[in-house]
Amino acid sequence: MFRLTETEKEQALSKILPKLRRKGRCIVWTGRRTTHGYGSIRFRGRENVRVTRLVWASKKGPIPQGRFVCHRCDNPPCTRIGHLFLGTNRDNQLDARVKGRTWRAIGEKARHAKLTADAVRDIRVRLANGEQAPKIAASLGRGRQTIYDIRRGDSWKYVAESYF
Ligand SMILES: [Zn+2]
Repeated sequence: MFRLTETEKEQALSKILPKLRRKGRCIVWTGRRTTHGYGSIRFRGRENVRVTRLVWASKKGPIPQGRFVCHRCDNPPCTRIGHLFLGTNRDNQLDARVKGRTWRAIGEKARHAKLTADAVRDIRVRLANGEQAPKIAASLGRGRQTIYDIRRGDSWKYVAESYF
């Protein structure tokens, strides 16, 4: 069970709320992210606690053991309560598999698909760390547009993302 005390809820929200921005219909975390794009902060002495778990535990209530905060909107940094749901591990894996299939069907067969999912994640991390797109493109021997597309999320929006 992941449960926060009233004091911890206040602490969590005071860290999280200033770093949220509205983006389309989502409310996204603009702070530090994991390699999979999920917001994470230091909390209770732990280095990487998911922002979505803290938001859920603060706004909705305790998260039972073995349940995961999943996204209906498919947008890992989103923290909007209405876009989140508590899934079981099975939901989680099922969802990841569905996305994996979608990605294989659409991503790899796309005419210009040349990057693997791992390569795309690596590029996202580099972008998140502030590296400039032209520099990343040059280091990989790719066109800049490829990197811009990944940054916009258009070409590779089907890349499977883990919910963990
Ligand atoms: Zn959302």
